[in-house]
Amino acid sequence: MTTRGQEFLAQFGDSLSMLRGRVTPDAEMEKVTWFRAGGRADALFQPADEADLSAFLKIVPRSVPITVVGIGSNLLVRDGGIRGFVVRLSAKGFGTARAISETRIEAGAATPDKHVSGVAYDAGIGGFHYFHGIPGGIGGAVRMNAGANGTETAERLIEVRALDRDGEVRTLSNAEMGYSYRHSSAPSDLIFVSALLEGYTEEQKTIRASMDAVREHRESVQPVREKTGGSTFKNPEGTSAWKEIDKAGCRGLMIGAAQMSPMHCNFMINTGSASAHDLELLGETVRARVLENSGIKLEWEIKRLGEFRQHAQVQEFLGQLI
Ligand SMILES: Cc1cc2nc3c(=O)[nH]c(=O)nc-3n(C[C@H](O)[C@H](O)[C@H](O)COP(=O)(O)OP(=O)(O)OC[C@H]3O[C@@H](n4cnc5c(N)ncnc54)[C@H](O)[C@@H]3O)c2cc1C
Repeated sequence: MTTRGQEFLAQFGDSLSMLRGRVTPDAEMEKVTWFRAGGRADALFQPADEADLSAFLKIVPRSVPITVVGIGSNLLVRDGGIRGFVVRLSAKGFGTARAISETRIEAGAATPDKHVSGVAYDAGIGGFHYFHGIPGGIGGAVRMNAGANGTETAERLIEVRALDRDGEVRTLSNAEMGYSYRHSSAPSDLIFVSALLEGYTEEQKTIRASMDAVREHRESVQPVREKTGGSTFKNPEGTSAWKEIDKAGCRGLMIGAAQMSPMHCNFMINTGSASAHDLELLGETVRARVLENSGIKLEWEIKRLGEFRQHAQVQEFLGQLI
């Protein structure tokens, strides 16, 4: 029997055979996301390097959807899976970082943030200790304006190199990234391949102390060893998401095996084999209860991708009139 993924790939004939990266039909996205939940992508493409990614983008017509993912630490993939291709940059082709001056670092988009904070430490570059506690990669940090400990990526980015949907190189300055809190308004079809970042000179012992403080603080207040997606909702103006969730009585709330962490109630966790449906239903239940309790409309920080399973849609705010 032909699978959905094989059928999807058949439309490309042998045109994909020239690619050096790996093409996987029916890719299990639960293996990619930190939540360890979600359906299959029609196909996953892991380019070998930038030239390979560019060739892929030129082959695949615009009518075929392409979704890019990073390390998967901020993603909820729905149980019905993702139509079209998912692109995930390989560590081999995109996962290195190096200091190129006393204050600047060049990092491939698949480099883990934590590794970049180590490179900065080795070179005596301050301002990257916050990366020590964020489990994603540079592509995700650039897209999400990842931040912690009073610093965000928008303060460190000089420019980013990207490929557009036609496989052409584009370089975007910090201003062109259109940054706001956990958001960039850069075109959504861009695939970031590397970033030029800038910190400041700092003594290594000061950097080490900041990195240790970040790690210790996280381990004491966040469920970092759980299957989670980090902060579920953005902090609303003038308050914290966790305070509103707590006030609405949702700390520890469970649906199936999905739970609002008793340790940090803005972290949603998969305590066992929660489905993406359980997790999203829990999130929308929390949004509905917070709305009812304090009139605040929490906004998802976690990116939700893909399709619901048939007859298992989850309505925003559970369909409440808002
Ligand atoms: C325990 C835990 C703690 C966390 N703490 C923090 C925190 O303190 N601060 C914070 O900001 N976040 C935090 N997060 C969330 C997450 O780590 C960040 O948002 C991170 O930047 C996401 O990177 P990623 O590589 O995992 O991206 P993914 O989750 O894979 O993707 C996130 C988004 O980025 C896009 N993207 C990824 N790579 C690329 C690319 N190469 N080109 C274009 N778009 C791309 C995806 O399309 C998606 O929209 C935490 C998560 C966990 C699990």
